Amino acid sequence: MNTKIWLSSPHMGGTELKYVHEAFDANWVAPLGPNVDGFEKDLEKFLHDDVKVAVLSAGTAALHLALIECGVGYGDEVICQSMTFSASANPIAYCGATPVFIDSEKDTWNMCPVALEEAVQDRISKGKKPKAVIVVHLYGMPAKMAEITAIADKYQIPVIEDAAEALGSTYKGKACGTFGRFGILSFNGNKIITTSGGGALVCHNQEDKDKAVFLSTQARDNAPHYQHSHIGYNYRMSNIVAGIGRGQMEVLNDRVEARRKMHDFYVGVFNNIEGVEVFTEPTEEFYSNHWLSAIVIDERITGKNREGLRLAFLEDNIESRPLWKPMHLQPVFAEAPYYGTDVAEKLFDDGLCLPSGSNLSDEDRIRIENVIKDFFQ
Ligand SMILES: *Cc1c(COP(=O)(O)O)cnc(C)c1O
Repeated sequence: MNTKIWLSSPHMGGTELKYVHEAFDANWVAPLGPNVDGFEKDLEKFLHDDVKVAVLSAGTAALHLALIECGVGYGDEVICQSMTFSASANPIAYCGATPVFIDSEKDTWNMCPVALEEAVQDRISKGKKPKAVIVVHLYGMPAKMAEITAIADKYQIPVIEDAAEALGSTYKGKACGTFGRFGILSFNGNKIITTSGGGALVCHNQEDKDKAVFLSTQARDNAPHYQHSHIGYNYRMSNIVAGIGRGQMEVLNDRVEARRKMHDFYVGVFNNIEGVEVFTEPTEEFYSNHWLSAIVIDERITGKNREGLRLAFLEDNIESRPLWKPMHLQPVFAEAPYYGTDVAEKLFDDGLCLPSGSNLSDEDRIRIENVIKDFFQ
């Protein structure tokens, strides 16, 4: 059997262990310490825009805290992009709130501004103004943030940007994750950089960050004994994990470059295959880190479907995966309201994510190309 080619696997830079050793040597084996502060500073520097970053145990935890800081509580409604990973929507349920799902538009596959405004107006007319809007930058592709933030501002609803897949992506030259009232990042094992598991909340002032740190460390009031006036969470990142993050930040720009090269590779491979579209930025205002390269197959033109290609890859021990199944089609969210048409559903039916790791070799690319050429012949 050929060695396995993964969709997206961890890619260490080499200096991660230095930071982890420093943590051991100084006995900072705790959810605080120099690596936690250092990783936050590194991220703030990378994102610019005077942001304040709190590193946490997961991107999901960051979203949960963002919702709490936006005042989301029991019985509220929160708008969320439907085409995404379940972790974008689950924290809405943690708050006892209801998600209201929105379709995608065809250019970026992200939240459709037209369906968004329709939803906001309809929910307000039903007597419930949404408490927040969660927009996602799918596979690293920036959403149409100018249109989305304009609508959110018009109705004065805070935007939370799920930039879990989009560290290193920019829209009109500004980093994804820095547009909303809050942004969230993930350092899970499959993301563009990883700490083995972790996340971050991107804030725009010290007060919001301090509140996130307070809530993520069990909400201890300032007293010598354990005193609590809020429900707390155990969501802070450990100093060991943050050490991995500091090492990974040293190679983040290289990782973005390598992922973008994988996208260019697929553009080349599919150049002569009619009926297959490689997911690409619609204009120069959008700069994707191309965390995952993806394609949409037009079955009417190619006579082939994405499941066929997925199985052909599998035959050669190569991992690929259908696009995210939209949340409004998930059994667990069957009752949630939905606005839009069938754009996200069609993308799910016809789309496939392709091996995109920054650590793939020329031999891996030859194997991938051969499977694609054979399949579409
Ligand atoms: C990975 C991911 C998350 C969750 O991040 P974790 O760190 O795994 O909790 C949230 N949203 C999207 C879109 C993701 O891809």
